[in-house]
Amino acid sequence: MADPKGFLTHDRELPARRPVDVRIRDWREVYEDFPKPALTKQAARCMDCGIPFCHNGCPLGNLIPEWNDLVYRDDWREAIERLHATNNFPEFTGRLCPAPCEAACVLGINSDPVAIKRVEVEIIDRAFSEGWVTPQPPEAKTGKRVAVVGSGPAGLAAAQQLTRAGHDVVVFERADRIGGLLRYGIPEFKMEKRHVDRRLEQMEAEGTEFRTGVNVGVDVTVAELREEFDAIVLAGGATAWRDLPVPGRDLKGVYQAMEYLPPANRDMAASPISAEGRHVVVIGGGDTGADCIGTAIRQGAASVTQLEIMPQPPAARPDSQPWPTYPMLFKMESAHEELEAGAGDRVYAVSTTEFLGDEDGDVRALRLVEVEGPASGFRQVPGSEREIPAELVTLAMGFVGPEKGPLLTDLAALASREFFDPRGNVARGTSYETAVDGVFAAGDMGRGQSLIVWAIAEGRSAAAAVDEYLTGRTALPVAIPPTARSLV
Ligand SMILES: Cc1cc2nc3c(=O)[nH]c(=O)nc-3n(C[C@H](O)[C@H](O)[C@H](O)COP(=O)(O)OP(=O)(O)OC[C@H]3O[C@@H](n4cnc5c(N)ncnc54)[C@H](O)[C@@H]3O)c2cc1C
Ligand code: SF4
Repeated sequence: MADPKGFLTHDRELPARRPVDVRIRDWREVYEDFPKPALTKQAARCMDCGIPFCHNGCPLGNLIPEWNDLVYRDDWREAIERLHATNNFPEFTGRLCPAPCEAACVLGINSDPVAIKRVEVEIIDRAFSEGWVTPQPPEAKTGKRVAVVGSGPAGLAAAQQLTRAGHDVVVFERADRIGGLLRYGIPEFKMEKRHVDRRLEQMEAEGTEFRTGVNVGVDVTVAELREEFDAIVLAGGATAWRDLPVPGRDLKGVYQAMEYLPPANRDMAASPISAEGRHVVVIGGGDTGADCIGTAIRQGAASVTQLEIMPQPPAARPDSQPWPTYPMLFKMESAHEELEAGAGDRVYAVSTTEFLGDEDGDVRALRLVEVEGPASGFRQVPGSEREIPAELVTLAMGFVGPEKGPLLTDLAALASREFFDPRGNVARGTSYETAVDGVFAAGDMGRGQSLIVWAIAEGRSAAAAVDEYLTGRTALPVAIPPTARSLV
């Protein structure tokens, strides 16, 4: 146990964010460094509660009390060993995870939870800077070949586990660079891409091969892939986006978030879709919407307004979402802070009814109406219609599942049973196997739009299933079954 009285003597503390007026002038991560004594105090707050619900809250089953104790005792080397035992990429989750572990922390029943995610990221950052994160190539090779389609966190986790188990792994990615949404969805100010590059160097040194610019199903057919490889892991994400089919949707300047964010991430200085000097409206109140806000502000938007159809969530845990569930609360992400510092506003319980254009076919305004809550079916409030300026609109309304391109349709044609589940995701059995022999699926492609931590957990688990399929046994760990869901 860390400090037996730590949770009584220290309050929860997180590093400060850099001042808004400074950080919006660059793309670097928003957080200041956290001094070591402050972090030790946070680790000391872990009270070794006996039944650590945080383990269950974390889909990876991270051994949180163990590494809190090790950090408190200044044994960082052992701390990274324990962290890597369950998580291939703590530098991603430690920055980007919404931390369901903290929602499940026992201390959170009547106090502020332990700052678990902060401890996690400090452990891995320290390990990289000390040179402790080294390649771990396999001791022996199996001679089996595995293709991983998609290089997001699910594909990367599966690839790293399978490479280390001795298989020859090739990761295929249709984009020009590896990383999936870590690379081109999530902006630099949330996670600098050097963290992805650093991990890829390790993976390459371990023997994982990466092939970019290859759209599997088009550039390489399913038949060719099955011929060349002994097993295939589908990790292509859930990239089919939800649209807003209202009048004016075709006007120039109305984009999907994933049309807007990737070019901004590719070229921060001069994206072809820039918000500079424009009134921006972001439709959708989630993480993707927040990423659009922070990006538009850094591009120099004249104003940014975020619209959300749901009512404003409560600031504190309501009775209907008791501990240890993950509550839907009012969030103040860094991008929201930037918005409220003067760039714009968040508007709840409204629905967009129309986009209005100018004579050149460019969007110039948006018409919205206030709505009642979901119980009423979002009934419109009579007389509440109004128009707001909108010269660039991004739709951040979520994703409906994986794209049904040639990769999945060709595989579905070979399937022995239903290839898709009722929600349109790739159906899996208990071992991540699809309806096509030797083909497995992990991450958003099988689960639907989710989180990085779930993608890594699925990638690790699918790797164990593939290893067993190829060799008849496995020593790789299984984090979760494909049916695992968050505690709600
Ligand atoms: C803008 C945005 C911000 C987000 N922010 C967060 C966050 O802060 N925290 C969090 O936990 N989650 C966040 N998420 C969700 C998270 O990014 C995803 O749940 C996660 O990346 C899913 O991982 P994945 O590996 O399954 O798929 P992805 O990361 O989507 O990767 C799939 C990859 O497969 C490739 N691919 C698809 N089809 C083919 C093909 N036929 N051939 C070759 N390659 C193919 C795609 O190009 C893509 O690179 C965010 C999502 C978005 C869109
Ligand atoms: S991966 Fe997410 S849920 Fe797991 S310990 Fe880290 S922050 Fe918590």
